[in-house]
Amino acid sequence: ILEIGSLGKRFGDKTVFSDVSLRVRAGEVCSIIGPSGTGKSTFLRCINQLETPDSGNMWVAGQYIEAGMHLSGSDLIQLRRNVGMVFQSFNLFPNMSVLQNVVFPQQKVLSRSAEESRDKAMDLLGKVGLADRAEAKPMQLSGGQQQRVAIARALALEPKIMLFDEPTSALDPEVGLDILNIMRDLAKSGMTMLVVTHEMAFARDVGDHLVVMGDGGILEEGDPDQIMSHPSKERTRRFLRAVL
Ligand code: ATP
Ligand code: MG
Repeated sequence: ILEIGSLGKRFGDKTVFSDVSLRVRAGEVCSIIGPSGTGKSTFLRCINQLETPDSGNMWVAGQYIEAGMHLSGSDLIQLRRNVGMVFQSFNLFPNMSVLQNVVFPQQKVLSRSAEESRDKAMDLLGKVGLADRAEAKPMQLSGGQQQRVAIARALALEPKIMLFDEPTSALDPEVGLDILNIMRDLAKSGMTMLVVTHEMAFARDVGDHLVVMGDGGILEEGDPDQIMSHPSKERTRRFLRAVL
C-alpha cells in the first residue's frame, strides 16, 4: 500500500536523509524510531506532501508521487483523504468546537453533507470517549483529550494509511497509555499505520516492522523483537541503550 524508493530530502545544503526505501503492506504497523534530528518527522511529512522530497519516488495508496512533483487540486485532495496524520502537538483548529473539528474536514475534503458529517463525527467521538465534550473548544480539553479529537478528525476521512508523529510524547505517561490503546485497537482493526514513537513497548508489541533512522537514512529495519534484542549496528545499540 506504501512503496517508497530511494527518497531523499535536504533543507538548503543540509541533507536530512537520502536513499530511503521502504515498503509497507496493507494492514501493517511500521514503527519508526531513531535519535532526534534524524528526519523521522520530515520523512512522514514527505509521505503526505507537507514536504516535497528532492529525490526518489513513492506509491502512496495507489497514487504515484515523484521528487519535484507538486500535487495540487484533486490529486492533493485524494492524497489527503487517503493519508491521515496525527501530530505530537495535536494541531486542532482552536476556534472550532470539538465537533466542528471533526465535521469540517469531511465537508471540505469529502464534500459530505452536514448531517452525514455530524453523524460520522459523533460516532467517532463516541469511540474515543468524547461524545459528551462535542461542544467544548479544544482549549478546554486536556492534552490527552485533544489528541483523541485529533485521531477522530483524521479517521473521519476514512484514510487508508495513518501517520502518527510521536502522538504521546507531549502527554503524561498515563494519558499517553490511553492514546496508545486507541492506536492498538486501530491496528487490530486492520489500519495501515506508520508510527514515529519513543514507546518501545508499543513498537515491540503492536509493530509488525521496525525502522531505525540515523546517519542520513535507515540504519536498519526488520522484525521489532529481533532488532531490539540483537541490533546489528553499533549506532542502533547506543540509541536503544538510551531509550529502553
Ligand atoms: P525529533 O526526534 O527531534 O522529532 P526528527 O527525527 O523528527 O527529530 P526532523 O524534525 O525530521 O527530525 O528534522 C530533521 C532535520 O531537518 C533537523 O536537523 C531539522 O533541524 C531539519 N529541519 C526540519 N524541518 C526543517 C525546515 N522546515 N527547514 C529547515 N530545516 C528543517
Ligand atoms: Mg520529529
